[in-house]
Amino acid sequence: GEETSDDDTWPRYIRVNTCQNTTQQVVDVLRSIMSDDANFTIYLDAHVSDLLVVPPSATALILSHTAGDADKKEKGKWNPQTSIVLQDKSSCFPALCLVSLLSADPRFQSWELMDACAAPGNKTTHLAALASQFMAGTQQKPCTIHALDRDKQRHALLQRRCEALVNGDDRVLIQTKQQDFLTVNPKEYLNVRGILLDPTCSGSGMRDKGLKHLTEKENEGEERLEKLSYFQYKALLHACSFPQVEYIVYSTCSVNAEENENVVHRVLAELPSTWHVVPPPALAHWKRRGQASSKDTDEKHMIRVDPLEDETNGFFVCCLARSSLHSMSKQ
Ligand code: SAM
Repeated sequence: GEETSDDDTWPRYIRVNTCQNTTQQVVDVLRSIMSDDANFTIYLDAHVSDLLVVPPSATALILSHTAGDADKKEKGKWNPQTSIVLQDKSSCFPALCLVSLLSADPRFQSWELMDACAAPGNKTTHLAALASQFMAGTQQKPCTIHALDRDKQRHALLQRRCEALVNGDDRVLIQTKQQDFLTVNPKEYLNVRGILLDPTCSGSGMRDKGLKHLTEKENEGEERLEKLSYFQYKALLHACSFPQVEYIVYSTCSVNAEENENVVHRVLAELPSTWHVVPPPALAHWKRRGQASSKDTDEKHMIRVDPLEDETNGFFVCCLARSSLHSMSKQ
């Protein structure tokens, strides 16, 4: 169709599941699969570690290639279902941001994290892979990730994927649960330090929806947008109520301020000033930042991705931190 002409030239992204393989192992396999195609070049992404950038024609070929027994889950052996995740670049940002905040903070002897809206688990398993890499260099206890989703079928998929992808990596433990995050009692998760919140959104940044809708915001339906942003606000406020949470990463694949900057400001207005927006260390060099309304300066710490400019889906990421008594007493 006419709408896909641009889209077809955009790169595709392959995230190496480092719980099962090294990036070098995967690159070697991909090279051998593609050895007949002279135009095939694999790049490493400039912002996300272990993310490979390939031409659009590559992914179908890679997926159809089932070298090795796909049912055999053997660590270190190529398996198209567990060695890689076809995950768009911008959707790798939330886990990257959360782990960069936690790993820069020496206070925590063990990591207990929550992915509040987790299915189908792309960000959960990315979080697991990054946490495992960090734990490998320390004496820390395994990282625990509580991964929730409200929807029964989506939760089942989440559970299957987490098991398959993290299988055999003893530096990280994922506990999935089918539950509405808004009904979770924060007191039952006293040790949770970090929450990744990627709630249902309008998806208005997604390229595969056809970019036409980006210029036709009025068609989004004011009412739907209002409902979504109210849920996002409730969920973010709830995340901030966990007694020991220090970092929250809020993300959407929407380009609407109503679901992004506005949600953050609405929540911050209801919280004590110990909560604030912080820049994610992992994306220090990312240029595109939050859309500033006149009086706010927090936007320079928020991450925006433009689906027309950045060669990946439109996205929003905002990191919130709570200043602890520890860091406040130093001021
Ligand atoms: N983070 C996921 C990933 O990277 O694979 C994608 C999450 S998707 C944007 C939002 C998810 O939130 C859906 O699976 C939906 O079922 C779930 N969800 C919606 N409302 C929820 C709630 N109140 N509590 C828990 N999960 C919810």
